Amino acid sequence: MARYTDAVCKKCRREGIKLFLKGTRCNTNKCAIDRRAYAPGQHGKNKSKLSEYGLQLRAKQRAKTYYRVSESQFRKYYDEAFRRQGVTSDTLFEQLELRLDNVAYRMGVGSSRAESRQLVGYGMIDVNGKKVNIPSYMLRVGDVISIRDSKKDNKAVTKVLELNKLKVIPSWLEFNKEKLEAKVLRKPTREDVDLEVQESLIVELYSKS
Ligand code: SF4
Repeated sequence: MARYTDAVCKKCRREGIKLFLKGTRCNTNKCAIDRRAYAPGQHGKNKSKLSEYGLQLRAKQRAKTYYRVSESQFRKYYDEAFRRQGVTSDTLFEQLELRLDNVAYRMGVGSSRAESRQLVGYGMIDVNGKKVNIPSYMLRVGDVISIRDSKKDNKAVTKVLELNKLKVIPSWLEFNKEKLEAKVLRKPTREDVDLEVQESLIVELYSKS
């Protein structure tokens, strides 16, 4: 898979919104969006009107970057959402939110989705008491996500609690501070996703191909 190695802040500047890709730095005055609120590159300050296709592409890129998934993974979620009954864009976001790395991020395991993914890969997380080290693991309603006992040293626990304070735990998750575990109470809906994006544009883009 091709990996993007340039400064991730450029991705936020390209989209014109904070995508929270750099952990705690995103909440400080070092955030590149706060300092340079224009697109990167020589012509970044010249705002040109995007074509219909351009708008659709940007919407897709925005959602894909926010969740830090590859093009093929994102497309796979779209195809699955399209196949299922219901509103395609709702099902698309439901799947992205229910990824284990995303839930780990929401509960404070990792300061960014990239870090959460790494920590899941290191085997830091249990699902219903069993180790799961697959970041794309799809959670279900009723699942309990916890930090493995062997990884619960003081440093890890303090970090999770500190990060947790900075976050608003979505209402579809219940977080237990004593046990450091989260429970999926219900399926997340589009309204639960704090991302500014016009989801209909993503559907329009993919429905053409
Ligand atoms: Fe985006 Fe975070 Fe960089 Fe700000 S600091 S531009 S939110 S990645």
